[in-house]
Amino acid sequence: MNIKDEIHRAAEIIASAKHVTAFTGAGISVESGIPPFRGKQGIWNTVDPQILDITFFQQHPEVSWPLIKEIFFNRFRDAEPNTAHIALAALEQQGIIKAIITQNIDGLHQRAGSKHVLEFHGNSHQLVCLQCRETVCVTDKILSNVPPRCPRCNAVLKPDFVFFGESIPELAASRSYKEAKDANVFLLVGTTGLIQPASLVPMDAKSYGATIIEINTEHSSYTRSITDIFLQGRSTEIMKELHHELSMK
Ligand code: ZN
Repeated sequence: MNIKDEIHRAAEIIASAKHVTAFTGAGISVESGIPPFRGKQGIWNTVDPQILDITFFQQHPEVSWPLIKEIFFNRFRDAEPNTAHIALAALEQQGIIKAIITQNIDGLHQRAGSKHVLEFHGNSHQLVCLQCRETVCVTDKILSNVPPRCPRCNAVLKPDFVFFGESIPELAASRSYKEAKDANVFLLVGTTGLIQPASLVPMDAKSYGATIIEINTEHSSYTRSITDIFLQGRSTEIMKELHHELSMK
């Protein structure tokens, strides 16, 4: 089958499903100018991942913070949602997609208009105090001096996304596993399944009987294990086509 026929088949399945959940990863934001962590163009090629290691961060916030600020706040602010984010938001508005589980912390789904977004790895719009758990919205003012300090107890603030060595936010995790149980279709976009425990969510969905539709530029660990329909290509192009097909129905 050629890609057009495959997209058509995927659209048929999505249109007839009661509950469709999208599951997204770094690949969907690459075309918004946000580099992935891993791979040839990945952030970890030039930056030591220890800046996001929770123990290292606690001991050396003055080393971690300037790089964190540059990568996750300055660069993310310039990024705009792309066609794939926008198509997913439109499908939610049309009642076709019930929820988006994302491993990304760039906030681009919400900026594209998605409402029901489960941020499996937290977010980059707020900071959290490791001492008293106070949360603070990110502003230019709070980031003007790094490391930023808690307004309540003066301890160092940490971005409210998951660092290496930290666990997944409980609510996002439990809601994501509920989606895996409830979904008839899991639409994987730009995620290769290398990051645990996030990668277990689609596995769970499959074991509860969901049809797995995968959009990626290359085969991933899902392709050979759980994927039912593989749509190869850039997420912007495939999502645009898929949305177009679904809008014709
Ligand atoms: Zn505090």
